[in-house]
Amino acid sequence: MKTIQDTNLKGKKVLVRVDFNVPFDKQGNIADDTRIREALPTINKLVSDGASVILMAHLGRPKKGGFEAEFSLKPVAEYLSKLINQEVVFTQSLLGSEVENLCKNLREGQVMLLENIRFYPEETKGDKDFAQKLALLGDAYVNDAFGAAHREHSSTATIAQFFPNDKYFGLLMAREVENLNKLMKEHSKPFTAVIGGSKISSKIGVLESLLNIVDNLVIGGGMRYTFYKALGYNVGDSLCEDDKIDVAKSLMSKAKEKGVNLYLPEDSIIADDFSEDANTKYVPEMNIPDGWQGMDIGEKSINKYCEVVLNSKTILWNGPMGVFEMKKFAVGTNAIAKAVAQATEKGAFSAIGGGDSVDAIKESGYADKVSYISTGGGAMLEFLEGKVLPGIKAIEQ
Ligand code: ADP
Ligand code: MG
Repeated sequence: MKTIQDTNLKGKKVLVRVDFNVPFDKQGNIADDTRIREALPTINKLVSDGASVILMAHLGRPKKGGFEAEFSLKPVAEYLSKLINQEVVFTQSLLGSEVENLCKNLREGQVMLLENIRFYPEETKGDKDFAQKLALLGDAYVNDAFGAAHREHSSTATIAQFFPNDKYFGLLMAREVENLNKLMKEHSKPFTAVIGGSKISSKIGVLESLLNIVDNLVIGGGMRYTFYKALGYNVGDSLCEDDKIDVAKSLMSKAKEKGVNLYLPEDSIIADDFSEDANTKYVPEMNIPDGWQGMDIGEKSINKYCEVVLNSKTILWNGPMGVFEMKKFAVGTNAIAKAVAQATEKGAFSAIGGGDSVDAIKESGYADKVSYISTGGGAMLEFLEGKVLPGIKAIEQ
């Protein structure tokens, strides 16, 4: 793997694709700066080597094909400047003589951030001419945007071809690829995947792929009710994808064929409304009465799942066990978080990924007790599906 770790890019203008797609609160402040902080090791390494750093990033999904104030990266430039204790040069345009001159005049160790690259519709099309123009701004290219690695966009993939000998993985990207490879190819057994979340439809590829490598597949979240229905149980008002019942059946028979232990929760915490103030009840079985919906896994499932996790040497967790955003339905999710942390303490390798799962492990207080938290939701899932991510391929080929 060609990473910036083993290279000194002193004196070079280095184009770095980062993932600064951060959430903002209603007052316009950055609500969670994790993604900016995750890019710091790469930025700091390049700065201390004496490279000039030209950052490229996107924010949200601008639609108009030009500047839109709500998607501007200017607040991110100001924020980053505080984090790295130096001015971050910010440019509103990405192409043209103004930005070219700014890049040319950047001193060693200086950092610049280009405005939201998605203000140019060419970006998401992976346009080659656009990528070539961007490439003119730098002497080397670094991809550190794992969160966007599954996109074949101009700045995440296409641009790499213009730096055949000067393209590198950033430190974050390298760490993600190393950890995910470890998980998929060099894991110790027993290997347990805990998969939850809302919909089975968004996880089919991952579930299929995991059946080839795991010993235990533990199912939770809303997606379990599609399995319940496939088994002939009543699901009441629970989240259920009727058009995916066949998928659930096929996953269960594949698990049997491959000798994978597939666990479904035996009990549920149910509610008469999808809200924090709803009436709740415990059901010790898989039938959910009409007028009620499953919101969390119950105690029997928690005990079983924790036991499976604690006996594992490798653990992958994606998808909360229940509607964890509402405190009273976060019990199952928090119990699994604790078990994953305990298993890790006993020597297991544990990996967690997915936007909501990462929020959940942070809220549980166990985030620093697991082996690895992925910064890419969609990118991680596609990697686990066995797909070759365009952002990774572009650097490796
Ligand atoms: P991730 O982002 O980690 O990949 P998902 O997006 O697949 O996870 O799923 C997270 C969502 O699943 C959360 O918003 C959570 O409230 C929801 N969820 C979990 N269990 C249930 C349930 N029983 N019914 C409805 N939604 C659920
Ligand atoms: Mg999600």
